[in-house]
Formats: sequence, structure tokens, C-alpha cells
Amino acid sequence: GPAPEGDAIVRAWLAGHSNRFGHYIGGAFTHPVADQSFEVHDPSTGALLAHVAQGSAQDVDAAVAAARAALPAWQALDDHARARWMYAIARGIQKHARHFAVLESIDNGKPIRETRDIDIPLVARHFSYHAGWAQLLSAEFPGQHAYGVVGQVIPWNFPLLMLAWKVAPALAAGNTVVLKPAEFTPLTALRFAELMQEIGLPPGVFNLVTGDGRTGAAIVDHPDVDKIAFTGSTEVGRAIRVATAGSGKGLSLELGGKSPFVVFEDADLDSVVEGVVDAIWFNQGQVCCAGSRLLVQEGVADQLIAKLRDRMERLRIGSPLDKTVDMGAIVAPVQLARIKQLCAQGVEEGATCWQPSWATPAEGSFHPPTLFTNVAPSATIAQVEIFGPVLVSMTFRTPEEAVALANNTPFGLAASVWSENINLALDIAPKLKSGVVWINSTNLFDAGAGFGGYRESGFGREGGREGLGEYLKPVRSHEPAPSPVD
Ligand code: NAD
Repeated sequence: GPAPEGDAIVRAWLAGHSNRFGHYIGGAFTHPVADQSFEVHDPSTGALLAHVAQGSAQDVDAAVAAARAALPAWQALDDHARARWMYAIARGIQKHARHFAVLESIDNGKPIRETRDIDIPLVARHFSYHAGWAQLLSAEFPGQHAYGVVGQVIPWNFPLLMLAWKVAPALAAGNTVVLKPAEFTPLTALRFAELMQEIGLPPGVFNLVTGDGRTGAAIVDHPDVDKIAFTGSTEVGRAIRVATAGSGKGLSLELGGKSPFVVFEDADLDSVVEGVVDAIWFNQGQVCCAGSRLLVQEGVADQLIAKLRDRMERLRIGSPLDKTVDMGAIVAPVQLARIKQLCAQGVEEGATCWQPSWATPAEGSFHPPTLFTNVAPSATIAQVEIFGPVLVSMTFRTPEEAVALANNTPFGLAASVWSENINLALDIAPKLKSGVVWINSTNLFDAGAGFGGYRESGFGREGGREGLGEYLKPVRSHEPAPSPVD
């Protein structure tokens, strides 16, 4: 059943702040002003959770000034001292893991099993991993320097994890940060800011400004920001690329995807079914690298679809705090409406829509797991990122056809290949235009492995040595700037 204990702690925390939050600038929270704030809701019930400050250009200016002021002392720390701060953050996350997990589930709608076992442990691991890099920085990157003040804008699908992916390497490399969380899910970022205050991280090293896209644009446009790191939609990423062009600011973009999940007829179909559950129904499909296009070799297509329909029937949807559910709520009504509209368009364009016979909860923003068959490769649902629990399936005959179909979108974030013939899988993998290729697995992340896209999925890497390098100025100025086009 639900987790009343953790729930009570989080409700008490919200109430302790009178459900109102300001920005975290220069080590202190600003006083929230009622008419300059927005509401944050629990997507599984629609209940109001908090009023959160809408950051103005002045707020961004104050945060950038605080980050600039903190920079010399932060950069003067030796590697070991900076590593100690990184470990302190990791320990703080672990100490309050329960609080973070419940708060994330309430704010985002994702199942507690995921926040407890995946999101929050990976957040802690990301900080301890980067403590290691902080310690080795001068030895491993001799002569390289931090950018300075880094502006970071993140999405709502993995709120605290996306924060960690941005903040950990930036701080480890000696930058100071101004971060804006997504407007649907600012609460774990606010709790994180409070944690920075509790552990005594020097004021100004980490600053948080909440707000919507206007606040994000103010960070992107600020003349005293040295580098922008953005994760979000391809559309906004493109606007940011234009806005920063010629400014001299560093830029990395992690954008959308429409990742292929390629199944050959010799694959272990029972493993494939569990892989699909993980690829498209994990986090309600709101995953940038979700395996949202199922490409199946003709000979096993009917058998696999039958197995999948049976598995969908047995998925459980419900309260994110219920430890037994497989799927929680969609982050916001506007996202739910978008998913429904794309599904309707799929039917209109002639595809067949499969959903389980059970009903979703009457209250809140829920969408059932959905599978489309008879999908034309040019159909809207086969081309557009749905960012929901919606899988489109298509068939192929030969490996060449599989590769052509897999590469037939403007994206290039992730892919997975399923076959018991490892020679075939290893032959296909490098032909896929994709930043990550998983073989007989999917959605595997590790702080030590670089993650990122090609083509319209963006450029730059997060995690691993490459990810840290994104927060250090390149030493060799004769090299051309990285191109997003592969
Ligand atoms: P979004 O682009 O609408 O918003 C992302 C963030 O950008 C939010 O914080 C938003 O407030 C801010 N923003 C909006 N307009 C802005 C502007 N003009 N200037 C600056 N900031 C602005 O995306 P979303 O709907 O929150 O997230 C979903 C998208 O993120 C999907 O496309 C998904 O694929 C992508 N995503 C990518 C990765 C990755 O690593 N590649 C990871 C997670 C999500």
C-alpha cells in the first residue's frame, strides 16, 4: 500500500515552508512574493502542493552575480577540498534519500519504486563519482580550466537526476552554477538547495532560480554566464542554439529522441517483453531515450505483439506512492492532453490502437500503456516524440531494412538491439545513428558512461570523462567547434 510515513515527512516539510518557496541565491532563500509565483500540483490527484517563485530577469541577475562572486574562492580550492564537498553532497542525498524519493514521486507522479531504487541512488552515485574526478582534476586535465559561471536549464522527467547530471560535473570541474528546474517539478531542486545550505556549501557556488521558460531564457541571455547546459525539447534547444550563437558562450544540448527497439527473430521473446516494459512504460514513457519505436522482424511479429498485449493487461497503474504499481501519473494535464491528441492522430492516420481492458484511475493525469500496430513509417506517431507510454510497432524483413527503418527519424539518442546472435547484434549496432546502443538490454545508465545524442538529439555528453570535459574549456583552440550534425 501507500507509504504514509515518508508521505507525512514530506507533507510536514511542505507545511514547514507554508507551501511557499523563494529562490536560493548566494546561500540564502529569497522571500517568495505571492503575485510573482506559480502553482505546483500533484499530478496523481491534481492537489495543490506549493507556490513557487517565478524568477524575473532581476532574480537571474542576482543569482549570476552571486555565482560570479563565489567563483575565485571555489576555483582556488585544491582538488581534494573540492572532492570533499562532492562527497558531502552525495552523503547528504543518501541521508535524506527517503525524503527525496517521496517528494519526487509526489511532485512528478513517477512510482516510488523508481525514485527509491533508481532516481535517488543514481543522484548520490553521480556526486560520489564526480568527487573522484574533482580529486584527479589537475592530474588528468592539466592546463584546462573551468568555464566560470554555468547556467543550467533542466526538464521535469527526472527532476533531481537531471540536476545531478548537470551540477555534479560543473562543480567538480570548478565552475559555479545557476540552475533552473522545470516549472512542473521544482520541489526536489528546492530541497536540494536547502541541503546545500545545511551542509554549508560556500554561498553562491550553487544557485537556484525557479520559473518557466522566460526564466530559462533570462539565464541563456545573461551576458555574464560563460556556458549554458540545457536538457529538454529539441524545439527549445534550437532556440537556445540561436540565442547563444556568436556570444562566445559554451553550449551543450541534450534533446529529444524517438529511439528504435530492434527485435530480430532469434531474440529471446520473453526477455524482449520485459525489455519493452522497461523501454516504454518506465517513467510512463517520459524518457528522452525511451524505446518508443518497436521494430520487429516479420516472422515473430504476431507472436511478440500477442505476448506484449498479454503483458500490458497485467501492468498496474495507480498512486505513485503505492510500492506495487508499475506506472504512475503523467506529469501534468497539458502533457496528458498532448499524448491523447497524438494517439487520436495515430488512429486517424490508420494505425491500430491497443490498450488494456482495465480503466485508469478516475482522478489525476493517468494514461494507459498503449501499443500501435499497422503503423506506416511516415505516420506522425512514428516520427514525433510522444513522450508518453505509447509504443509504435513496425516490421522489417532483413537486417538492412532494420537499419534503414531505425535511422529513419531526425533523432539519434539511443537504440537497442535484441538477438541471440551476438555477431548480428554487433554488426547492426555501429550502423545505428545513435549516441547509445544497448544490446539485449535498455535504459541502462551509469555515472561513468557518457550519454548524449547525435543529429536533432543534441550534442555534448553527460557522465564519464567526456561529460566532465563539457565543463572544462577545450585546450586546443585550432580544433573546429563540435558539430551537432553527424
Ligand atoms: P522543454 O524544452 O519544454 O523544457 C525544458 C526546460 O527548458 C524547462 O525548464 C523549461 O522551463 C525551459 N525552457 C522552456 N522554454 C525555454 C526558453 N525559451 N529558453 C530557456 N529555457 C526554456 O522540455 P520538457 O517538456 O520539459 O522536457 C521534455 C523534453 O526533454 C523531451 O523532448 C525529452 O526528450 C527531452 N529530454 C532530453 C534528455 C536528454 O538527455 N537528451 C533528457 C530528458 C529529457
